[in-house]
Parts: sequence; structure tokens; C-alpha cells
Amino acid sequence: MTPRLGDNNPSITYTKYETPSAFRKAGAFLPRDLIKKEVYEYRLSPYMGCSKRCRYCFELHNEFIHEDEVKIKTNTVSVLKSNIPSLDKTKAILLDGYDCEAAEQRERLIRSALEVIVEYGIPLLIQTKSDLVLRDLDLLEELNDSGVFVNVSFSLTSLNQDHARIFEPYTCSPFDRLEAMKKISDAGVQTGIILMPVLPFISDADEELDLLFSRAAENGCKYVVPEPLRVTSSGKQRDMCFGVLRKYFPALVKRYEELYPARRFGPKFGSGPRDTAYLSGLLKRIDEVSRRYGLPTVFPGIPKPRPEKRKPVSRRQCTLDRFV
Ligand code: SF4
Repeated sequence: MTPRLGDNNPSITYTKYETPSAFRKAGAFLPRDLIKKEVYEYRLSPYMGCSKRCRYCFELHNEFIHEDEVKIKTNTVSVLKSNIPSLDKTKAILLDGYDCEAAEQRERLIRSALEVIVEYGIPLLIQTKSDLVLRDLDLLEELNDSGVFVNVSFSLTSLNQDHARIFEPYTCSPFDRLEAMKKISDAGVQTGIILMPVLPFISDADEELDLLFSRAAENGCKYVVPEPLRVTSSGKQRDMCFGVLRKYFPALVKRYEELYPARRFGPKFGSGPRDTAYLSGLLKRIDEVSRRYGLPTVFPGIPKPRPEKRKPVSRRQCTLDRFV
């Protein structure tokens, strides 16, 4: 049965373990613009794996977890506390894990980690597909109001709900993400969209891009960073992508095989479309729509920190019933 958008994924098994280190390197599914610009130094992920199981994700290639497993790093906060005093406070932490909603609502590791980050005043980036981030808006506001850089990027593929149901059935609706973005932006925190992945001939039509950019602009978005779909040349991610295509878009299978040729070996996190004419046409069209709505297609970067400006602010608890 096709799940309702935002349903918890019932096939996930949660296991617990103690991580030896708080931070890890860049993950598979980050836009190249963020990686190239080195906008963050530390990546903090209280969970290994992801419960959403989006149909284009590389998590299936994570050799440290079983197919339907998410590992909860139970000691995340204590390891963070012991590491954080020695961090370079001019560099940002990228925090992810809201997408493991069921676990986070129970464990509250992200909230506890945020309390530590706020206490030490470290610049913060968040990337998510979940509106659970609203639960912690009080902490994001507190850090932001104290003069420390805070940024929340929502990952979106398309505003087409049918496509969302097919490709990312366990995420909240794209419109819920826009609404969450608006609330965070209204609180003064910088927000934007990681338009990833753009699905060739599925989510890349002019009307669809126009709708997405126009809604983004109305909802406090400050940038839209696009990244076309990457597919591995063999293995589970490829099988999953092509399985979805065969089921829902059979007429596109041949074209995708040309764009993403099968090979025995290839990059672990796949390659983009092998068609320079398609790619340059897509980027040109995205560039046009981004100009129309005044939304840059690159991550704005982190302003130089001014720690001397940091001022203490009073804390108030956010009480959003649906997240407690
Ligand atoms: S939200 Fe989707 S794309 Fe992002 S890590 Fe989870 S499964 Fe992968």
C-alpha cells in the first residue's frame, strides 16, 4: 500500500550503539555547492541511516547498517560535550537527523545537542526534509538572536504531491516543508531550499520549476541550490531508481539508461546525467527562473563571525503539541 505522505516508515528497525566520535565527514547526499565551498567543518549526525528511504537515496550503500536499520548514537550529546570546547568557533556544524523523526521524538538527541551548541555559540547549518525542526525553533532563534550564524535548508524534489508520494513517501508533504520554512524565516533565521534531486523529464518541466521558485519566494526562501539526480552505475541505488521508473514511468526507462549508463564499476555516490546538452539546457532554465524570482542558485555562504557581538538571550520553551 502506498503510505500517506509523512507516515512513519514501519519497516525500520532501530538499534542503539555508542559512537567513538561526535563528528563525521561530508555524506553522500549533499549538494556539491556546499561541499565545494566548505561552508561547514563539522557534521553532527545523531543517527546513522535514515528512516525515510527516499527512492533515489544512497543510504542503501551504507555498509555500516543493515538494509532497514537506523542506528541511534546514544552517546551523541556526551561526546559532543567533550569535543565542543576545542572546536574552532568560526567554523559551522552541519546538524542532520531530523529525518529520523520517530527516533528523535523519543530520544531528543538533536534537541539536547542543540542546547550544547547554543551554549557554546557555534555557527549552525541544518539540512532536512522534516518539519520536526519546528519543535526546536526556540533554540535556533536563541542562537541566531545572540549573533551566531544559523541556517536551515529544506531539501525538496518537487511540489508535485504525486511525485513526492512515489519518490519520498515517508517525508512530510513539500507544502508542509514550505510552511515550516516560512515560520523559521519569520523568526529571522536564514532559510533556503536544496532542490535535490532534480529528476530529468519528471520534475524539471518549466511550469514545475516556476511553481517551486514562486512558492519558495513567498515562503521566506533566500536561495534554491539545484542538483540533478545522480545514479550509480550498478548496485542497490540504481536498482531502486530503475525499479520506480519501470513501475511509474516506463516510457522514460530507455532515456534514463542513456543518461545513466550501466557499468560494472563507478563512483559510489553515482554520476549526474551524461548529456551535456540536457544539463546545460536545464541549468539555463533554472537560471532564468531563479532570476525571475530573485533567488540565487548558490548557497550564500557564512558571514564572518563576530563573537564579540554575541549577547545572551532569555530562553523560552517552544511547545508545539504535535512534536512533544
Ligand atoms: S531524507 Fe531521503 S534523501 Fe535524505 S537521507 Fe533520508 S532517505 Fe536519503
